[in-house]
Amino acid sequence: MNTIETGTDTRTGQDRRRVVLATGNRGKLRELQALLGTAYELVPQSDLGVIDIEETGTTFTENALLKARHAAATTGLPAIADDSGLEVDALDGAPGVRSARYAGVAATDADNNAKLLRALDGLPAAARTARFRSVIVYVAAADDPEPLIAEGVWAGRILDAPRGAGGFGYDPLFFDGAAGGTGAELEPAAKNRVSHRGHAARQLGALLTERGR
Ligand code: IMP
Repeated sequence: MNTIETGTDTRTGQDRRRVVLATGNRGKLRELQALLGTAYELVPQSDLGVIDIEETGTTFTENALLKARHAAATTGLPAIADDSGLEVDALDGAPGVRSARYAGVAATDADNNAKLLRALDGLPAAARTARFRSVIVYVAAADDPEPLIAEGVWAGRILDAPRGAGGFGYDPLFFDGAAGGTGAELEPAAKNRVSHRGHAARQLGALLTERGR
């Protein structure tokens, strides 16, 4: 596990690049820091006084870019932001960008899962296909005309009752047959290997290296 340090990495003598992460979620910070490695020092935007902005975009990419540009504008640092959600085929891609507030602005995970179960009530397993999608972006500055955009998907289906105690959000209802469990049944490392966010984060790491950012 990489630790957050400033300046030079004492183990490698390498200069670390400070990047603001447009989330206050420590779990996401740890996950991304581990995937990006010691060349980057990810700083959560809440440590730098950045206030959350409203996610008014109609796509995950738009929302991620809104958040990254806002964090870069406030701090003057390069920024990384992500946006993700669940797309259910029988619901024409809903809840999509509205995943966190599917059952209302103050909805809990339990409210959202209950609404999803009602919306799919009576549908057979074959008609309950869905995918998680994650977009993670990097901007070198607020007005960066060439942001790096990485995207990952995780395909599965929605069960008719929750299974498992781990994870968050729609994890207990989202079943991955190949991985052999719901998002809430998989160990965090196993989820990371197959998940939308894991794929997107690894792709962003490769893009950063390739472009020398
Ligand atoms: P965020 O924008 O990445 O914070 O995610 C928006 C919403 O999508 C979350 O509040 C969850 O409801 C849902 N979501 C995103 N990723 C996952 C996941 O890995 N498991 C379960 N739900 C997720």
